[in-house]
Amino acid sequence: MQVPLLDLKAQYAKIKNDVLKAVSEVLDSQVCIGGPKVAELEKQVAQLSGCKYGIGMSSGTDALLASLMTLGIGSGDEVITTPFTFFATAGSIARVGAKPVFVDIDPKTYNINPALIEKAVTKKTKAIMPVHLYGQMADMDAIMAIANKHNLAVIEDAAQAIGSVYKGKRAGSIGTFGCFSFFPSKNLGGIGDGGMVVCNDEKLAAKIRLMRDHGQNPTYYYHFVGGNFRLDPIQAAALLVKLPYLNEWSQARRQNAEFYNAKFAGTLIKTPYVHSDCITIYNQYVIRVSNRDEMAANLRKNNIGCAIYYPVPLHLQECFAYLGYKEGDMPESEKAAKEVLALPIYPELTDEMKNSVVQAVIENLK
Ligand SMILES: *Cc1c(COP(=O)(O)O)cnc(C)c1O
Repeated sequence: MQVPLLDLKAQYAKIKNDVLKAVSEVLDSQVCIGGPKVAELEKQVAQLSGCKYGIGMSSGTDALLASLMTLGIGSGDEVITTPFTFFATAGSIARVGAKPVFVDIDPKTYNINPALIEKAVTKKTKAIMPVHLYGQMADMDAIMAIANKHNLAVIEDAAQAIGSVYKGKRAGSIGTFGCFSFFPSKNLGGIGDGGMVVCNDEKLAAKIRLMRDHGQNPTYYYHFVGGNFRLDPIQAAALLVKLPYLNEWSQARRQNAEFYNAKFAGTLIKTPYVHSDCITIYNQYVIRVSNRDEMAANLRKNNIGCAIYYPVPLHLQECFAYLGYKEGDMPESEKAAKEVLALPIYPELTDEMKNSVVQAVIENLK
């Protein structure tokens, strides 16, 4: 049986009429920038995240970039982050002219290892950017303790973790800023690019709101150099239709994960480790196997979708060669990059589909 890694058409089929209606309201209003849909989504995402303020952004990447710009981080500054993440995490740091300083991961959660952070702090360190990878939050208490001790900002890259919980707190609500992505494959995905920043500080919220609109207020008066990082109201309209389903979709992902976990128990497969402090949203369901490349190729041959997040850790990417890292510097990230494999986990999977995935994976175990 054919099982794609993700099937957005299955989700769209259930909400199509509501999405079309909401998008058509925006078109009829001809409010094509900002407006009530963006404001309403900002309110609802802030509420969901346990934050006072939500600021719509053009993408998760721009949410990270605008957060760094708002904190005045740039040339000569250092930002500590993980090398085992999507490119935009470190890309945004480099784009403001700051230096990404990589700290290796905890091999169980794949998130930044807080025990290694303090050694990386220097006089130039301005912020820590933890990533809540695959939908599970990083160890925020340990990270915040280091940040508070050294007076560092914390930007949560929560692009894969909207609605995720750590010790009763929501992703995005613990650091200085929390950044979400509405890229279509995220748990809450738009019909194109989009993102959001959440925070609890009134002054920073006001500043990043200007930052996303060229630093402009009123029109044609510029307080600082910002950018065009605005969220499109058509995206906001579609996201407002999807948001009420987010909880049940994440719940369905957790149920799918339990299904796989039970079937893989007692095999050589390392199933995802979920820390007892966390409720994950499984943006990805990632197993670890020693013959990963061979397994991935065979699954694809059998029309079972799978993906590798991520095959090359960022400290070994060509674009970051100038930072001077070499193979062996981040051993856990490098090992994970060779062994991780994401399997289909989207909410609409049927038992038959999940069984096909399980069968194909177990047949290819070595
Ligand atoms: C998706 C993602 C981003 C970037 O979000 P975009 O909306 O695609 O710009 C940043 N960080 C992580 C960890 C992501 O998964």
